[in-house]
Amino acid sequence: MPTAPSPTLIEKIAEKLRLIPNLHGDLGGEVPRLTEPGNLTDYPPPEKWDDWVEYEAKSWPRRHAKHYMIVPTTCFNCEAGCGLLSYIDKSTLQVRKFEGNPHHPGSRGRNCAKGPATINQINDTDRILYPLKREGRRGDGRWARVSWNNVLDDIASRIRTALQEKRHNEVVYHVGRPGHEGYMDRILQSWGVDGHNSHTNICSAGARFGYAIWQMYDRPSPDHANANFILLISAHLESGHYFNPHAQRIIEGMMNGAKLAVMDPRLSNTASMADYWMPTYPGSEAAVLLAIAKVLIDEGLYNRAYLYDWVNWQQYLQHERPNDEVTFDNFILALKAAYKVYTPEFAEKESGVPAKTIVEAARQIGRAGTRFATHNWRSAGSGNLGGWAVARCLHFLNVLTGSVGTVGGTSPSAWSKFKPTVPHKPPAQKFWNELHFPNEYPLAHYEMSFLLPHFLKEGRGKLDTYFTRVFNPVWTYPDGFSWIEALSDESKVGLHAALTPTWNETAYFADYVLPMGHASERHDIISYETHSGLWIAFRQPVLREARRKMGKPVQFTYEANPGEVWEEDEFWIELSWRIDPDGSLGIKKHFISPYRPGEKITIDEYYQYIFERTPGLPEKAAEHKMTPLEYMRKFGAFEVEQTSYNKHLRAIAAADLQGAETDSATGLIKKAGKNIGVMVNGAACEGFPTPSRKQEFFSQTIVDWGWPEYKIPTYIKSHIHPDTLDRSKGEFPLVPTFRLPTLIHSRSGNAKWLYEISNRNPIWMHTSDAKKLGIQTGDLLRVTTAIGYFVDRVWVTEGIKPGVVACSHHLGRWRRPQDAPGNRWATSLVEVKTVNSNQSSVTSDQSSVINDQRLRTSDLGHQWHMKTLDTIRPYKSSDPDSSRIFWSDGGVHQNITFPVHPDPISGMHCWHQKVRIEKAHPEDRYGDVFVDTQKSFEIYREWLKMARPAPGPNGLRRPLWLNRPLRPLDEMFFLEK
Ligand code: SF4
Repeated sequence: MPTAPSPTLIEKIAEKLRLIPNLHGDLGGEVPRLTEPGNLTDYPPPEKWDDWVEYEAKSWPRRHAKHYMIVPTTCFNCEAGCGLLSYIDKSTLQVRKFEGNPHHPGSRGRNCAKGPATINQINDTDRILYPLKREGRRGDGRWARVSWNNVLDDIASRIRTALQEKRHNEVVYHVGRPGHEGYMDRILQSWGVDGHNSHTNICSAGARFGYAIWQMYDRPSPDHANANFILLISAHLESGHYFNPHAQRIIEGMMNGAKLAVMDPRLSNTASMADYWMPTYPGSEAAVLLAIAKVLIDEGLYNRAYLYDWVNWQQYLQHERPNDEVTFDNFILALKAAYKVYTPEFAEKESGVPAKTIVEAARQIGRAGTRFATHNWRSAGSGNLGGWAVARCLHFLNVLTGSVGTVGGTSPSAWSKFKPTVPHKPPAQKFWNELHFPNEYPLAHYEMSFLLPHFLKEGRGKLDTYFTRVFNPVWTYPDGFSWIEALSDESKVGLHAALTPTWNETAYFADYVLPMGHASERHDIISYETHSGLWIAFRQPVLREARRKMGKPVQFTYEANPGEVWEEDEFWIELSWRIDPDGSLGIKKHFISPYRPGEKITIDEYYQYIFERTPGLPEKAAEHKMTPLEYMRKFGAFEVEQTSYNKHLRAIAAADLQGAETDSATGLIKKAGKNIGVMVNGAACEGFPTPSRKQEFFSQTIVDWGWPEYKIPTYIKSHIHPDTLDRSKGEFPLVPTFRLPTLIHSRSGNAKWLYEISNRNPIWMHTSDAKKLGIQTGDLLRVTTAIGYFVDRVWVTEGIKPGVVACSHHLGRWRRPQDAPGNRWATSLVEVKTVNSNQSSVTSDQSSVINDQRLRTSDLGHQWHMKTLDTIRPYKSSDPDSSRIFWSDGGVHQNITFPVHPDPISGMHCWHQKVRIEKAHPEDRYGDVFVDTQKSFEIYREWLKMARPAPGPNGLRRPLWLNRPLRPLDEMFFLEK
């Protein structure tokens, strides 16, 4: 047992003089230990979770024992879904802190800073506690408290009318962070609407398309812990998404000898730990990857058996070299010819990475073979025209080394993601919403969400009822002023309900602001590809669970949460029930209890149904003498599979092989005119869900849809390629895609600990560039984009590639004087004004302040100005820390000055900007923003011209084999003749 340490001489004197409390005199010797010895010393054992005793930190140095109930939940502050344990004070029923859940297979008890900061979010003094309805005009900032009952009745009757009038495409749910598995698909399909919109096209669509065109699965799942070589395109993923689960496994891999290479123009935290930092010129990554591929091919470092069995090389030769014999050796010769231009020297010229480094990395990758783990998410994939080709070329290296699905390799994400079986699953909808999937972008990987304001402006449609959920396009998206214009116009957006736990710049332009819970205040299930394995985690409202355990159950989650903060799950059930009270619309039947015929399903029954059908969970629960639901309430997570390797080798069921034929040349197993698998070494394997059932090095799909120049993995020059820049005019490529690892997209403004750590976003500029321009750290710069400018300070550093500038995108939050106080740890007070172009200059009497104007877009000017009126300041609240705010700088809103750049193939917004950098003008002030939305509309039209629209083969809007969120009936994929 530990004993109290003896005081030092200085401590004795300080205690005597009462400069510090007496730490030693009254503790009485030994300090009892409250944690158990053993492997999980730092975690309370589950059998003590119902009554865990710890001393109250605030009573220190006195020992004041507090009794806690520990209830698990799941973090909601990024996609990784790490486990959290909430410590609930049993005497006050308040959550006191969050720590890691050691029983969660993905996070294994660990969290990043954002996990424990959940406590800040639930205690935020500015949080929205009750449903609010706007008063006055949209955007005025005046709100009245309303009841959930009124909210449900009002919105339900509106949706019911829209459905009865067959205006299904006017009901839309637009989500930022989903945080659940399939729940909303079930709701929307029960309504029969094609109403799902997401943020994927400003996030990961580029990388996703690059993977999907190879194997249909659109995300990678690297097995970092068992790799010999790890290659990351940008550090974003490992410092943003999957930060903690991946970071801990990368370190494990490195401790076992793995080498780490990071391609990133910026010296990120991850790059600083790497064996090879490859600071590529933004957009040149595919050139480097193809140079690595060339080394692997030329030096015979490829995996012959894997290529032979699992790549559609025969199809490629037949298409490319119809006069050659279809042999594997001829394929290798064709490969050598196709990639001969991608020499390491060419890659060095494009990227700036020395050819020697590229060759060295290539040989290490060749040696790693099947233990080669890779990842690419945002950054290069999301920054550049043709950014999708980066993921495609990266995956090419996994294919060449045969490291797809192997131990230490990179698996498709879907192999590690659990799909729940839900009650009363509705059928696919009979609608196709062209506001989400327009014909110009037939291959777009997910909805063209960032073009919505322009589509509305063009009159392509309108929205009757528009839900935004954990979604803040005014601030997060490019061209945010166009969003304000659209949201301010009631003829375009009939009703806007913002479902959000905290105020944000989009909620200011809503009709209803509906407070939904944070991680510990809601139900969800989550499963993500954090490593090789398959797990399911339970997010639960911990105070509701604590009440249940204490014999004080509630009917709805808002009865246990602070104020009347609710959760989406129950909200959607109640709303759906009211849309179709008599069942005549066919909705009600999907919300009947599977256990109590004819009665409305409860949220407990919904999860009970899923957990009872989760393989292995009922048995595991029985070992603990629990039901599956009780087990998940108790432990918060369950490991469905320990590993998830090589699922393409799964055997085809004997019954499915009846009547099938095998092509001896390709190994393809065909049945009823369709490829159903691949015969490999006498075994009938499922393969991949592509048309060829193999990895598609050659894409017939891309050829068929009008892009034959990209039939195989290719380097595409970015829109910010050096050829497009005029350096004499101060032009630079701006990389705006990175984030600081302690921030959440647009939801950390309510977390005081996180803003204390990170609260400004200067322009990163290399010392050599700063010297040329006569710029020093702290100088004000004007950064001019194609539609406007922003004014920010500069940080001169060696941590960025010369010739490139960068700016983190999670800072620069704002509120206007008329808005409710919100996120005051993070928001500057700003004035937002517009003028029309026929007004030659901006003065306060010429300008129109948005809240003083009528609501129609035509009444607003198109030249937008934002000025900072006041910085972040300490303020008085129930939290004493709000008086202790020591920072004043909240950063600058850069995204709002970017035009939309839709990639014509993937549909991804290409984030990188060509900007002009100059010293600030005399009238410029820190945080100033200017944008002309007429110009942004013109740029939208310019990029639209690059598109090659549907129809594709057979009158299709989109290839049938590619995935689509909220997939409608197959017949909806065909354009009407
Ligand atoms: S990595 Fe993501 S899920 Fe895990 S603790 Fe951090 S923010 Fe939460």
